[in-house]
Parts: sequence; structure tokens; C-alpha cells
Amino acid sequence: MIRAYTIASGKGGTGKTTVTANLGTALAQYGRETCIVDTDMGMANLGLVMGLAETPITLHEVLAGKAQVQDAIYEGPYGLKIVPSGLSLQGFQDADPERLKDVMQDLTNRCEFLFLDVPAGIGSDAVLPLTVADEVILVVNPEISSLVDALKIKILTEMIGGTVGGVILNRATLESTDTNRRKIEETLGVPVIDTVPEDAYVRRAAAARAPVVARFPGSESSKAFRRIAAAMAGFP
Ligand code: ADP
Ligand code: MG
Repeated sequence: MIRAYTIASGKGGTGKTTVTANLGTALAQYGRETCIVDTDMGMANLGLVMGLAETPITLHEVLAGKAQVQDAIYEGPYGLKIVPSGLSLQGFQDADPERLKDVMQDLTNRCEFLFLDVPAGIGSDAVLPLTVADEVILVVNPEISSLVDALKIKILTEMIGGTVGGVILNRATLESTDTNRRKIEETLGVPVIDTVPEDAYVRRAAAARAPVVARFPGSESSKAFRRIAAAMAGFP
């Protein structure tokens, strides 16, 4: 069974952090021990959107060899475990991404499900997380540029020995959904796991520093996130 997922996209702003925060929270709502990790060490924002207040020890300190993983775990809604990144540039410089494998090992012993939120681009901080999880999930928007970037990440992932399990089409509009699903599957050669609609409640929740599945559970995007989480948890 797949338990550790890397949420990637190539392009920034497709919804990686949103997907990580909401799938993590939805699985925690279902009672699953779940952990989400912000590996976007240059532009950390998972802790912010999850509403964490003070995070004196983060993934930065752990990857710099200055702290243990357990000291960087914070509790979110429904018992979700969150490992945020730090906001300082110095911390980013001191962190050694090579240590991420050990962090993963430690966290898979503590959690049933693990999600890594990765930075955009193809720098070493973005590339390393592509191989440390069981599977990469690509987040794609209904735009050609996002599809092209996702294809690059898919090729890169396979070149370095990782596996892309599927795609989440995020910010979908009604008219775009069907044709896009087919186009994405043809282009990337992996299944579209599910679709999350464009939904103003996602931004409203982020402004309130909470995931939409917790803040606005009746919204359309929340329904989609819960459906994806339920499938991951193996619910019929
Ligand atoms: P990334 O982590 O890939 O850079 P984010 O998750 O930070 O992307 O999302 C970028 C912006 O898009 C954020 O302002 C977020 O609130 C918004 N967003 C993400 N998904 C949706 C959605 N389904 N509907 C509306 N806005 C969304
Ligand atoms: Mg992000």
C-alpha cells in the first residue's frame, strides 16, 4: 500500500501546498495518522496556511543536523502532524536536503500517511523529494503551460528512479474538465486521480489560515479533497 506521497508540479502556484494541506487534514478527519511536511525550504508556507503560530524548530534545523525530527512536529487539526519549514534564508542555506531520506524514515514509523509539499522548479531542494516517497502525485491546472511543466517533472522523476502515480487536476472549471482529463492522460501517460474545482472558498480558508476541508467542509473543493482522501484510505 502506498503511504508516502510527494506532491509536485514543476510550476509554482498550481496548488501543491493546498493539496498537501487538505489531503492531510481530510485523512486526519478520517482518523488516519497523517503527517505533512513542508520541503519548500526557500518559500515555506505550509505552516502558515495550516495556522501554526510559533514554530521555533523546523525542517531547517533538522536538515542542518541541529534538531531531531520529533522536535519539529506540530499538531494541526484532528491530530494531523505538521513538519513546517523555517522562514529564514540562513536556515535554508544551512539545511542539507540529503538528510531528507532519514527524516522520511523516521516519519513513516510514526504515520500511516505522509505527504511532502515540494517547491516549484528543478533545483536540488525540489528534485530530492521526488525519489524519497513511494509515489509522486502531480498537481496540474487546466493550462498548457502547467501540463508542459508537469511532463518535465514526470520525465525527471523517472530518470532519477522515482514513480509518478497520477495527477490531480486542480482549479478545474466545468467546461475544461472532460477534454483536459483526456489531454492530461495522453500527454503524461498517467491517470488523472481526480479533479478539484476552482473554488473561492479555498482562498477564503487560506486567508483564515485553515485548510478548506476544516473551515468550509460543505464547499465543492472540500468534497473533492475528501473523495481523494477516502480513496487513498481505501474506503469503498
Ligand atoms: P503551490 O503550492 O503549488 O505554489 P498553492 O497551494 O500555494 O500553490 O496555491 C496557489 C494559490 O492558488 C493560493 O492562493 C491558493 O489559495 C489558490 N488555490 C489553490 N487551489 C485552488 C482552488 N481549487 N480554487 C481556488 N483557488 C485555489
Ligand atoms: Mg507551495
